[in-house]
Amino acid sequence: MSVISKSASSKNSPTLSLEQEINPWQAQAARFELAASKLNLDPGIWKILSVPQREIIVHIPVQMDDGSIEVFTGYRVQHSTSRGPAKGGIRYSPEVSLDEVRALASWMTWKCAVVNIPFGGAKGGVICDPKHMSQGELERMTRRYTAELIEFIGPEKDVPAPDMNTNEQTMAWIMDTYSMHMRQTVTSVVTGKPVNMGGSRGRTEATGRGVSIMCDEAVRALGMKVEGTTVIVQGFGNVGSNTAKHLYLKGYTVTGITEYDGALYNPKGIDIPALAEYRKKAGTINGFPGAESVDKDELITRECDILVPAATENAITSQNAEKLRCRILCEGANGPTTFVADEILENKGIFVVPDILANAGGVTCSYFEWVQDRMGYFWTEAEVNQRLEAIMVESFRDVVAYAAAHKVNNRIAAYMLAIDRVAFTTKQRGMYA
Ligand code: GLU
Repeated sequence: MSVISKSASSKNSPTLSLEQEINPWQAQAARFELAASKLNLDPGIWKILSVPQREIIVHIPVQMDDGSIEVFTGYRVQHSTSRGPAKGGIRYSPEVSLDEVRALASWMTWKCAVVNIPFGGAKGGVICDPKHMSQGELERMTRRYTAELIEFIGPEKDVPAPDMNTNEQTMAWIMDTYSMHMRQTVTSVVTGKPVNMGGSRGRTEATGRGVSIMCDEAVRALGMKVEGTTVIVQGFGNVGSNTAKHLYLKGYTVTGITEYDGALYNPKGIDIPALAEYRKKAGTINGFPGAESVDKDELITRECDILVPAATENAITSQNAEKLRCRILCEGANGPTTFVADEILENKGIFVVPDILANAGGVTCSYFEWVQDRMGYFWTEAEVNQRLEAIMVESFRDVVAYAAAHKVNNRIAAYMLAIDRVAFTTKQRGMYA
C-alpha cells in the first residue's frame, strides 16, 4: 500500500485521519516515498528499503520488588545493515509500539547516511513505565531484554545506545550482560556508556551540542545574528536541556522552555544553568522564579526566531502547524513533525532543519565511541567536540546545497541524500541468494 498516494494526493488528503497522520511509520514512509520517487529509485531497491530487514519481538519476564512477576513486551527492529552494523537507541515508555520502533529504526538508517557514518539503522523499545519502576526492576528488565537479544546484537551486528528514559546506567547493564554471555568484556557492543567503562567524552551532551550547531548554521544561512535571536525549546530531557544550555552559552536568548508537566516563558531570556540547577533540586521546572509559568501547548506557537521541538513525536501536526510563529524549526526530537504539517511549514516559509540531520550529533558521537572502544585509545573532550562540529557543519551544508540543487525542501533533500547513499551501497553489495 502506498502511503504517499493516500497522503500526498491530499493537497492534502482531507480523508487522512489524525490517527493516520500521527502514525510514525506512515510519517516515515510518506517521506521515503516522496524522496524515492524524486530520485527515480530503482523499484527493487525501493522495495528493499521500504521495509525493515528484521523485527524482533520479545516478552520479558521480570520479578518485581513485591515478589510478583510482570511480563514486558520489547522490540528491536533492524532496518538496514547495508552500510555497516545496525545502530540506534533503546527507549522505555508506555507509548512504545512496533510501528514507532520501525519508524525510529529507519530514521536511524537515514540519519547515519546523512552524516555519512558507517552504520545502518535500528531501534529498540520496551513497553513499560520506567517512572514507576525501581532501579532493581529496571536492571532485571534490561538484563533479560539483552539476554533475549543476545544473538542479534554485537559490535559488528547491532550496537544499541540510550534513547528516551534510558541512560548510561542502562548501557552499563547491557554491556555487562552481553560481556557475561561472551565470557569477556566487550565495550563496543553499546554506546552511551559511562566514560570509565569505554564511554566517549562528550557523548551525553552530543545530541544537544549538535542541535545548537545546527541552529548556528541555520542562523548563518539566513543572514541572521546569534545576538538577539530568540529560541523556544520543547522538552527539557537530555536533548532539550543540553540544546538550551549550549544555545544559552553561545548567546542566544532562550525565551521559552516546555516540559510534559508545564512551561516557562521570559521574553528577556531564561537563565538555563539556573533552571537546570532548580530542576535538579525541585524535580520539575514548575515554580522556577526566573520566568512566568504558561500553557505548554500555546508556548510553542509564540513568536520566536527558532523553535526546537526536543520531546517526542508529533509535536507539530495539521492541528497546530499553521499557528507556528518561528523562522527556523530545528528538530531535536525524532519525528516531531507530521508529513501533513511539512507542507504547511513549507507554505509558511519556515526554514526546517530536519530531525535526521538536526539530532544526528548523538549517533555521530556514538560512532566516535565505537571507534575509540575498538582502538582502545580515547580522545579528549576537545577532540570529540571538534570532530563532531566538523561532521555536523559539513552535513548541514550538504543538505542545504542538495535542496537548492534539486529544488526540494531541506527534509526531502536530507532523505534523498540518505536514500541515495544507502541505495548505492545496497546495489553495489548485490543480493545474497
Ligand atoms: N537515540 C539516539 C538517536 O535517536 C542515539 C542513537 C545512537 O547513538 O545510536 O539518534
